Amino acid sequence: MVRLNEIRPGEVAVEAPEPRDAGLVFVGRIHTPWSDRMLCPRQGRLDGPVCRIEVFEPWAAALDGLAQYEKVEVLYWLDRSRRDLVRQSPKNDGTTRGTFSLRSPARPNPIGTSLVALVSIERNEVLVRGLDCLDGTPLIDLKPDRCAFTPLAPPQQGDFERG
Ligand code: SAM
Repeated sequence: MVRLNEIRPGEVAVEAPEPRDAGLVFVGRIHTPWSDRMLCPRQGRLDGPVCRIEVFEPWAAALDGLAQYEKVEVLYWLDRSRRDLVRQSPKNDGTTRGTFSLRSPARPNPIGTSLVALVSIERNEVLVRGLDCLDGTPLIDLKPDRCAFTPLAPPQQGDFERG
């Protein structure tokens, strides 16, 4: 099993504060073909399998308008991660680095992000390609691809002044 409680050479774990999840509301659940971390891709691929994002009520109405985007950013909570590593030794990499220089799922706040290809949206279900999370992973948020998103209002004088 990858990254359960093992410590690899060079890694450093700390006495992490008791995790409190900052009042996040999980807005759905992600259904993928992977229930085994060994088989789950390290990063999603746009030609990967179709995965189903189930959006819970009352949030399905929040999907209105998303279908116009080809790419969508998915934010999810890597709920089965350890959260106490400050230095990590990526598998097969031969180096040890700080957690914030890695995209490892083991991090103090285990947020994962993927830019995925939108396949379809039907009622409260979003089908996408490009995910890399385990089946049942909690959904935090969906956002249009930032490159394709046009802000509703142009910048105005004062927007960038320090308050
Ligand atoms: N694409 C995201 C990112 O860059 O933020 C996540 C990358 S992370 C390297 C992906 C790995 O996290 C998977 O290969 C799997 O080992 C692990 N993983 C996936 N879902 C998880 C979950 N729900 N809890 C803990 N680990 C998970």
